[in-house]
Amino acid sequence: MMLSKGHPIRTYNSFCIRLFSCKPAISLTFEQQNKVNSIVADIRSSGNENSNDDARMRQRIALSKAITLVESKSPSKRMMADSLLDQLRMSANKQNSATSFRLGIAGPPGVGKSTLCDAFGQYILNFIDDDTSAKGDNQEFIPDKLAVLCIDPSSHVTGGSILGDKTRMSNLSYHPRAYVRPSPSSGTLGGIGAYTFDAVSLCESAGYNFTIVETVGVGQSEIELAECCDLFVLLLAPGGGDELQGSKKGIVEVADVLVVNKADEDLETLARKTANEYKKAAELLRKPVGWWGRSLDQSSECESHHTCNQSAVPRVLLLSAKTGAGIPELFDTIISYRKYAQKSGYLLEKRQKQNRYWMWKYLKERLLETTEQDERIKKKLIEIECDLDNRLIAPRSAANMLWASVVGDVNRRD
Ligand code: GDP
Repeated sequence: MMLSKGHPIRTYNSFCIRLFSCKPAISLTFEQQNKVNSIVADIRSSGNENSNDDARMRQRIALSKAITLVESKSPSKRMMADSLLDQLRMSANKQNSATSFRLGIAGPPGVGKSTLCDAFGQYILNFIDDDTSAKGDNQEFIPDKLAVLCIDPSSHVTGGSILGDKTRMSNLSYHPRAYVRPSPSSGTLGGIGAYTFDAVSLCESAGYNFTIVETVGVGQSEIELAECCDLFVLLLAPGGGDELQGSKKGIVEVADVLVVNKADEDLETLARKTANEYKKAAELLRKPVGWWGRSLDQSSECESHHTCNQSAVPRVLLLSAKTGAGIPELFDTIISYRKYAQKSGYLLEKRQKQNRYWMWKYLKERLLETTEQDERIKKKLIEIECDLDNRLIAPRSAANMLWASVVGDVNRRD
């Protein structure tokens, strides 16, 4: 078939060749494949409370290695990560929305996120040991293994977790059924990225059926956190309830539950007042029809969330991570949400949308990276930037020219 210059098929093919030729389709070496297989075997090993300390430790080490692999930008490690995730996905049908839960916790530094994760984590892990007959609804889903992934969006700048989350969650870190992973270390990606989503699914492969992703609410990170979790909790400090009108509006809009922390000692009255302010302001933040929220009680009537006509607002709770007051109510809220979202199909649909979100995000990242590394495009970029600096072309035309280079039609500009 003769194709004319600039034919769409030709340019598309050329684009694909360019995109993938930067990362030749080489396969893993024997050692790399062995390493992946051994990590997969250790992750799949039981690692539960009945297994011995050695087995549990092996599983934790394997999980840490696996997360490091998915965080890595090195081409060979990335290939190992792909192989690892593929192998684990084969046995993934049991880690679906019916058997796991993903909780996102965001909030400004110092609001008490680590203290809450520590206290809340212990509460839910002890739940299974307690007499469950008095727990009502909660018997439907009782998590027995908990993972906490702490994401510090500034870690790629600071070179690691300056917050030292692991040491601050000292009780949880040593619990035999908990896994606490601090922020990515130096050299890996910072902030929430596609790898966080992968890290959550790795934890689930290792049997952690409740995962908390904790992050500082900065810039885009809270929006991305919402794409990583089933339920998004925004932790707030006493005071500043009127901020809903201003700077915090964006983050509050994506949150499912607002929790005012530090409702104890001298701060209790202020915290209560703040929670009331947030409740009033939240009335204005109506979620889409069918979304779970304060109208939960009626929602049990709904066949599916599409047919549910109750509009809802985010819930507002009062809590003290220090004394533990309000933690059972937070857990009840999560369990009620899960029950509704599971039954209505909302949870399954949400996870499907998230999968698509991360697919596109990953593709965009790869595309940008490949474009930036392509020598031919780099050369063209120098010319285009020079013209741009000299105001010979507009930014929009410059972008079009660059795009033409990316899809292979390099001569279009000439
Ligand atoms: P993070 O930066 O959001 O993870 O906050 P931390 O969990 O490190 O807590 C910051 C400070 O707030 C620490 O000194 C905690 O002891 C304190 N803190 C956390 N939760 C509470 C709480 O519920 N009540 C009080 N009074 N202090 C708290």
